[in-house]
Amino acid sequence: MQTNGVEDKFAQARRQMLEHDLKGRDITDPGVLKVMAEIRRQEFIPPSYRFQAYADGPLPIGCGQTISQPYIVALMTQALRVNQHCEVLEIGTGSGYQTAVLCKLAKKVYTVEKCNELSESAQAVLGRLGIKNVEFYIGDGSCGWREKRTFDRIIVTAALPQIPHVLADQLIDEGLMVAPVGSGGVQELILGEKKKGKLLQRNICDVRFVKILGKYGFEE
Ligand code: SAH
Repeated sequence: MQTNGVEDKFAQARRQMLEHDLKGRDITDPGVLKVMAEIRRQEFIPPSYRFQAYADGPLPIGCGQTISQPYIVALMTQALRVNQHCEVLEIGTGSGYQTAVLCKLAKKVYTVEKCNELSESAQAVLGRLGIKNVEFYIGDGSCGWREKRTFDRIIVTAALPQIPHVLADQLIDEGLMVAPVGSGGVQELILGEKKKGKLLQRNICDVRFVKILGKYGFEE
């Protein structure tokens, strides 16, 4: 059972993360800072790592996968400029933490995860937190959403060798996409903007992500 002392420690660690790791770097978007100040990241972390929930790095979440460093979640969300009118496609639900951050800023989030266990656990956590503007799908997200449709924003939370056409086709014109792209251990975090049917890409910074496994990802 968690005591108030433990809860106070988490709240303190969350404030420290906000001030030091987010505001202390280049996270300035008030919406991103507000939701990351609210969401209890410890809920998304397996018990054996929970005490490190606000550490400045990734953590294991099972299935050989990791929850991203809080700063990277903030950076990607800030780059995506999500608002209450946005329908967002997320590839790589993982723990569901990034999903929860997006749900608080967007109209609706559609999230795809290939590992059953992770998707089910994320569904349980978001359910417990009362987050309802989300649809989960278990499958290969490198092919995009299961139905032919478009989204205002797309976020990919694992590395792609390049951005597949099938995914770019699901972004509306004037829409934004953020994804780590590259085949090595270090990738470029790419911000894509659709202009007159073309995806214009620029590099935000270097990142290290686990790989997307699937048809347009890497081989299993
Ligand atoms: N954003 C997540 C971190 C995800 S790690 C979080 O906040 O916890 C990347 C995730 O992508 C892993 O859960 C992995 O299982 C998933 N993944 C890998 N290949 C995939 C694919 N082809 N389709 C959907 N998800 C995939």
